[in-house]
Amino acid sequence: MSIRIIVAGPRGRMGSTAIEMIKNEPNFQLVACLDRKNNGKRLKDISDIHPLDVPIFDHPDECFKTVQADIFLDLTIPEVGYRHAKSALQHHIRTVIGTSGLTNDQINDLTKLARNHRVGCIIAPNFAIGAVLMMQFAKFAAQYFPNVEIIEKHHDQKVDAPSGTALKTVDMIRETREKMQQGHPDEYETVSGARGGNIDGIPIHSVRLPGLVAHQQVIFGGNGQTLTISHDSLNRHSFMDGMKLAIHHVMSLRELIYGLENILEPIEHNQNKKRAH
Ligand code: NAP
Repeated sequence: MSIRIIVAGPRGRMGSTAIEMIKNEPNFQLVACLDRKNNGKRLKDISDIHPLDVPIFDHPDECFKTVQADIFLDLTIPEVGYRHAKSALQHHIRTVIGTSGLTNDQINDLTKLARNHRVGCIIAPNFAIGAVLMMQFAKFAAQYFPNVEIIEKHHDQKVDAPSGTALKTVDMIRETREKMQQGHPDEYETVSGARGGNIDGIPIHSVRLPGLVAHQQVIFGGNGQTLTISHDSLNRHSFMDGMKLAIHHVMSLRELIYGLENILEPIEHNQNKKRAH
């Protein structure tokens, strides 16, 4: 049986790549799009690369009332994604939010809504499985290497710094890293910002250049050794495996899960599951 999906943000870079992925997945079916500029048109009217005969709505309530769907996938901007997701959950449609930058209050509201309506929801600010593993490995390494700095590099159209992934990495590292003062106690900057941003004594350096997509290095320093954990998203296809995983996983959820790391299962567990079938 196909999983019927509604995508918000079909003209965006992520939305367009997601529609390509949905087209190529035998069990996925695109059934509608939410797009503020093309209400009443069909996707084939506005897209040469995705000439699909699916309806476009600009209003989420109208869309979720009219179209039978299993999943709503949001790839827009935080304020809009939050509004769309609220409406989807109220209409009992499982929701996957790839849009990054939702506030804690918005996440808390959606958590309550998903729980009250017993509808699955996954918020995944980073769908790149490699990036999620990088954060988990960094959390593990920080127990042994409390001296750590982060360099994150993104395309020059990104407006916020540091990236959400860098902030999340610091959060995860802080769960295991013994609190300490690192670097020289008397260090000072001769050029302001030279030592980067700082959370709990962990420096974060943000690079913004054309040609980059999304890259991060977590560098640990110890006695006579360094350890670098590095991840590169080379294009938007890097996000599609995690997106597929989230879509499959949300089908059996009745609550909200924040972060792809909370749905990645150990391979051993997966193998046991396969053996059990
Ligand atoms: P993009 O190319 O700028 O696309 C954004 C989409 O949102 C466009 O379709 C845009 O339509 C729509 N939009 C913007 N403002 C809107 C509004 N006020 N009302 C309705 N629609 C609006 O951005 P992108 O690179 O595809 O990224 C989309 C989202 O995914 C961002 O939040 C980004 O941070 C996030 N992202 C997540 C991951 C992940 O792994 N989870 C990876 C990359 C990016 P208009 O043309 O009408 O403005």
